[in-house]
Amino acid sequence: MSAEKEARWWTPLTDGKTSCRLCPRGCVLSGGALGVCGARKNTGGIVYSLGYGRPAAIALDPIEKKPLYHFYPGTLTYSLGGLGCNMRCLHCQNASLSCALEKDFDGLEICAPDSIPENALQSGCASISWTYNEPLVWSEFVIESMRAAKARGIPSALVTAGLAHPEVWQEFLPVMDACSLDIKGWGDAFYTRLTGFPGFAYVLQNARAAYQAGCHLEIVTNLMCGWNDDDASLAALAEWIARLSPDIPWHITASRPAHRLMQLKPTPESDILRAVAIGKNAGLSFVYGGNVANLEIQKTCCPHCAMELILRSPFALRRKILAAEAQCPNCGTRIYGRF
Ligand code: SF4
Ligand code: SF4
Repeated sequence: MSAEKEARWWTPLTDGKTSCRLCPRGCVLSGGALGVCGARKNTGGIVYSLGYGRPAAIALDPIEKKPLYHFYPGTLTYSLGGLGCNMRCLHCQNASLSCALEKDFDGLEICAPDSIPENALQSGCASISWTYNEPLVWSEFVIESMRAAKARGIPSALVTAGLAHPEVWQEFLPVMDACSLDIKGWGDAFYTRLTGFPGFAYVLQNARAAYQAGCHLEIVTNLMCGWNDDDASLAALAEWIARLSPDIPWHITASRPAHRLMQLKPTPESDILRAVAIGKNAGLSFVYGGNVANLEIQKTCCPHCAMELILRSPFALRRKILAAEAQCPNCGTRIYGRF
């Protein structure tokens, strides 16, 4: 297989320049230039996807690690990451992948989309997750692999920050079974400060489209001290999710110093508990705290009768009393998700 793969979603301009339409950043690329994501390049007036077919990290992870708590809990997911990211968060904890250089693509083994579900099935995993970096930057390969996985009957999950052009996002909807989607904070001022781009409305639009298309959706917010953790922002975010559906799980995770925010204060558990309370006050049925030792905020209870249905330790299942029918055994309430 060739290492060079012409990208989709780009437009030729004059003088050998091109514009990329994969994400709303809409990079205009002169000959030889890379996009902001570092994963797409104009060579000779054509845009190439540098990461096509080139996983940089593969692991068998508990699905809880994505985090997806209501999607086949207690199973392993075949997890792949590539290089590059169109978000460029200042506190990225996967910067070795998201901020990789062009030369880092060289030497990565090249594989075909069909090989992904094959390998996942052979490894005994219940699903495939596109994770670690931002999977949207190699959308061509991810979508083709998801299509191959669907044909083999293995579900696919996208772990994403959701900054795709709607035209591209639409192509994920028929093949993406689950989505763990970051809503990083409330409003464009925050998105611009953290990522250098006002992508907030696109992220909300894509989250809504995924849910309305029947994709299993869980939302993640990484709580950053002094950045996105004020009560008003958290309430606005929780109320937005609740309007979409109170059944959508909301994960509030603790952050720590990383990448360009080494001065960031680690999120105290008290802030996570405050955010969890805000989520519950907004009417959300399933609000979880992550990256903290407190197991009380990692369990799933029936929203109707409060029976404990799933107990977890960090990134693992401890006990599940929910059958595939996904009904509370005590009161019969249907629990959102796939079990
Ligand atoms: S996908 Fe990359 S090259 Fe394309 S618009 Fe987004 S950041 Fe720019
Ligand atoms: S979206 Fe995720 S991978 Fe990309 S920079 Fe932000 S934290 Fe890192």
